[in-house]
Amino acid sequence: MKRIALYPGSFDPVTNGHLDILRQTLALVDEVIVAIGVHPGKKPLFTFDERVDLIHACAEEAFGPAENARIKVISFSNLVIEAAREAGARHLIRGLRDGTDLDYEMQMAGMNATLAPEIQTVFLPASPTSRHITATLVRQIAKMGGEAQAFVPPAVAGPLAAKVKAGD
Ligand code: ADP
Repeated sequence: MKRIALYPGSFDPVTNGHLDILRQTLALVDEVIVAIGVHPGKKPLFTFDERVDLIHACAEEAFGPAENARIKVISFSNLVIEAAREAGARHLIRGLRDGTDLDYEMQMAGMNATLAPEIQTVFLPASPTSRHITATLVRQIAKMGGEAQAFVPPAVAGPLAAKVKAGD
């Protein structure tokens, strides 16, 4: 049976930290479904379609076409376990950066395990080189004219600079 994992988040935009978790996930499963949470009333920096394109551009650049073909990107606005069920995923991937992530993620994993016992949460540790990165700070740095390219893949750096310049 094909091993399918769902990796949920905002990915606004995809960072070196997300890419690190994606790389680890590709080594464990056959297919990774990156699930972008969309919330009515919350305006992201990048549109859903732009985030999909950036994820694939980064994956192609970092891992090559064969690995990129094992990544799908979808949107979801319902419970993450429902999105996983609909996608046929039995694994739910979460990256852990620090103790704050762990405390919150343990609560979510516990409640999700009660709601959907057939779906296994998998925690993956952030790599030391990218564990400090958050997409929220990347957006703030870029908006304030700072250099964000140390935190994002090359395929994101240009579109990020252009986006904040356009004042979207
Ligand atoms: P952020 O918290 O950066 O806004 P998301 O909400 O899109 O990002 O996070 C989606 C998932 O990716 C979460 O499981 C989160 O823990 C993980 N993640 C985000 N940044 C990193 C990082 N630097 N290293 C490891 N995992 C990360």
